[in-house]
Amino acid sequence: MLGCYIDSDLPVSVNGDPGRLRQILMNLLSNAVKFTSHGEIVIRVNLKNQDENSLLLYFAVEDTGIGISSEKQKAIFNAFFQADETTTRKFGGTGLGLTISRQLVELMEGKIGIESEMGKGSKFYFTAKFGRSKSELSILGARNLKPGGNKKENVEDHSFQKFNARVLVAEDNPTNQIVAQGMLEVTGCTVDMVENGVEAVKAVKNSDIYDIIFMDCQMPVMDGYEASEKIRRMMKQSNRDIPIIALTANAMKGDRKKCITAGMNDYLPKPFDKSQLIDILKR
Ligand code: ADP
Repeated sequence: MLGCYIDSDLPVSVNGDPGRLRQILMNLLSNAVKFTSHGEIVIRVNLKNQDENSLLLYFAVEDTGIGISSEKQKAIFNAFFQADETTTRKFGGTGLGLTISRQLVELMEGKIGIESEMGKGSKFYFTAKFGRSKSELSILGARNLKPGGNKKENVEDHSFQKFNARVLVAEDNPTNQIVAQGMLEVTGCTVDMVENGVEAVKAVKNSDIYDIIFMDCQMPVMDGYEASEKIRRMMKQSNRDIPIIALTANAMKGDRKKCITAGMNDYLPKPFDKSQLIDILKR
């Protein structure tokens, strides 16, 4: 079960960087999903502190998964750290998610921490500072608004955009799979999901039904770059030309070039939102 508890006193909008916040939450949440086989995952958001111009929000992601020993907790935010080799072999991962999260939290003038007990579960928490937004509606007040009523007029409304496309998504991370599938289905696409490059190559080889392919770059068994090169070569031989869109977690400079060199057409840095996805589908 996944639960989300947001303090009803929180304002419905604050000023900050949604991309950064989304990336931190996605990192923590995907770890929670990865390392929890039973029980629940809960997200909490509370107001920790506030002054005239800013709010310090507290976020926690709690799971009932395998837990982390107190020894390993000390190094958990270090680069390339992975607490358990067995799970790493099974699930892949880079050991960078928590390091990136810590850096993003610090950029938002906050602190990240962990409480965990082996076999019982983990709680990752962080604070982050946000500016006050002009519309000081609370979450509770916002429930009474009509959908879309709070949108600025110059923001493009994508909610009714529908695509009738058959999409192949290659993504190993279970949370990202759910998010990508959900977003694509909302836009009217039919989704086939595979979890590594080898399966993606096989899927394209065995059928000619796909209009577009979304390809995670870092995947176990065969990564997205190698899979894209293989798919491009295969398509050349059979005179096909399906666009391949790279999905990449670390929005680093140079990633785009690497993706294009591997034969991908475009690039979607994770975490992406619905309007970025729709922009790609429109193109
Ligand atoms: P990775 O890409 O390997 O998941 P992270 O930096 O996100 O890298 O996590 C580092 C390590 O911390 C993981 O490999 C795992 O051993 C441990 N870890 C992270 N989150 C959890 C969790 N919720 N429960 C148990 N172990 C975790």
